[in-house]
Amino acid sequence: MDLIAGIDKKLAQLSAQSLTRRRRVTDGASSPRQVVDGRELLAFCSNDYLGLAAHLAVVAALREGAGLYGAGSGASHLVSGHSRAHALLEERFGEWMAPYIEQARALYLCTGYMANLAVLTALGADADAQIFSEALNHASLIDGARLAKAGVSVYPHGDVATLEQQLGASTAATKIVVTDSVFSMDGNLAPLPALLALCERVGAWLVVDDAHGFGVLGQSGRGALEHFALRSPNLVYIGTLGKAAGVGGAFVAAHASVIELLVQRARPYIYTTAAPPALAHALQASLDIIGGTEGVQRRAHLAALVDHLRDALRLQRWQPAPSHTAIQPILIGSNEDALRVAAGLHEQGLWVPAIRPPTVAPGTARLRVTLSAAHSHEDVARLAHALNELERATA
Ligand SMILES: *Cc1c(COP(=O)(O)O)cnc(C)c1O
Repeated sequence: MDLIAGIDKKLAQLSAQSLTRRRRVTDGASSPRQVVDGRELLAFCSNDYLGLAAHLAVVAALREGAGLYGAGSGASHLVSGHSRAHALLEERFGEWMAPYIEQARALYLCTGYMANLAVLTALGADADAQIFSEALNHASLIDGARLAKAGVSVYPHGDVATLEQQLGASTAATKIVVTDSVFSMDGNLAPLPALLALCERVGAWLVVDDAHGFGVLGQSGRGALEHFALRSPNLVYIGTLGKAAGVGGAFVAAHASVIELLVQRARPYIYTTAAPPALAHALQASLDIIGGTEGVQRRAHLAALVDHLRDALRLQRWQPAPSHTAIQPILIGSNEDALRVAAGLHEQGLWVPAIRPPTVAPGTARLRVTLSAAHSHEDVARLAHALNELERATA
């Protein structure tokens, strides 16, 4: 029982710091109207930014994919699990990213988490490589850097000048700069043009995790590279497909040689069963929407909702983050206060998650509001009104 007592002590410590997390069981498809514990809540928590997770055309394609390819892939990609559906999807991603990356090729992986592990462990496979990691990077990039044989240095958030000093002082044979494009808990953008110019100058890779940009940034939804009109052979791009694309998995787009290295060497790609081919088939329908006129309309509606929320908030103490993306965090401060505000919203039928350390820095607990093209202007007005009133009531 000593083993269990040790675990229970750790759990009690988490609870004492208001850090216990709880999973809520939802019924039905992803939607702004989410049924939780039998009650319908107006939800501002999902990363389904375009409302594609329950889109009829995507669901129909998933069903069709199951008919064509069955339920599971049966094996890893290098054994027998690499289906026509995976191959066609990779071809399409390669074409999509060709304007931004020279000799682009793409690889589809089971999750964004695994894609980040794959890229960093493969590029940073040697001890004489160095990974330069942005301070606010997603946990999966941090874990990828930990797993790589390369050394790791962290540069301060958005600080290109300090990164330049670190790169200049480094004698590493291979230099790898890695950053989120849209920071997941803040919603702001990395200075990608300045980062790319620097990486080209010093001959470094620039690895961009566009989990919150793919599908939503850029005129045709191709993400951060399109948004900033970047093109370079130094770019290694990761787009995840469980957020705006509404399905699951991720792709890496890079120079064909980088992709071939991943196929040959990246353990998170090689040593896992290929994702169900039906998912790859369903993603074709997502891409049709993202890249077509419906995608343009959905992104325009989402942008209008973001403006609406920012205009309607009248907060004195709580701080809306300076973000123009679908991620609209509101900084509260202490864990207890953030939980209390989230509970107050919940009482009114609104579901907004409180984000606490270690996901964010201590003292910066926040509400992470995310907007989706599936929201209406009335939904956003209701949220803004509730927040304005709650702040007044807790003055
Ligand atoms: C969600 C996320 C990931 C992980 O992607 P999954 O497909 O959910 O595993 C990676 N990076 C960032 C920045 C993310 O927000």
